[in-house]
Amino acid sequence: MILPIVAYGDAVLKKKAIAIDKDYPKLNELIDNMYETMYGAYGVGLAAPQIGLAIRMFMVDTSPFAEDESFSEEEQEKLKNFKKTFINAQILEEVGEEWAFNEGCLSIPDVREDVFRRPTIKIEYQDENFETHVEEYDGLIARVIQHEYDHIEGVLFTDKLSSFKKRLLKGRLTNIAKGKIKIDYRMRFPLMSKKR
Ligand SMILES: [Zn+2]
Repeated sequence: MILPIVAYGDAVLKKKAIAIDKDYPKLNELIDNMYETMYGAYGVGLAAPQIGLAIRMFMVDTSPFAEDESFSEEEQEKLKNFKKTFINAQILEEVGEEWAFNEGCLSIPDVREDVFRRPTIKIEYQDENFETHVEEYDGLIARVIQHEYDHIEGVLFTDKLSSFKKRLLKGRLTNIAKGKIKIDYRMRFPLMSKKR
């Protein structure tokens, strides 16, 4: 089932999400629904707060980036095959010199901005079966994980922009919160007027 994606301005996007255990109600169904929601919106990542749940879970599928010829063949191959669910993730380490990448977010449609992040991460997480893993990622895969990880920490990519950029974006972000935008996937807007 496709779930509505929570738009910018909703308080759930600002909350630090909490850990879950294997007894979380209907977890497998939730994971399936989140993948369906992510693919339905052509996203490469989706975090639980974006569907209104402040729990530490997100998923990433970078395969759409594999078509991008600006990446090396080796990188394209990696991107094509990367699909993973991260539960109770903790980033243990972020290293290297910050690099810029033009990020977007399903909760903030049509806004794209360069965001600076470190290129290499070490992350501990549990998979769908609650097995613990510690893994290292770099490049675009690390980038998408960092973006989704920020969501479970209550941080949006727009929070990382300069105050000048934030001022420039303010009106557009308010319009998003009010639902005054055109989108082709289901969304829920915090400031949408109930009257028609
Ligand atoms: Zn996002």
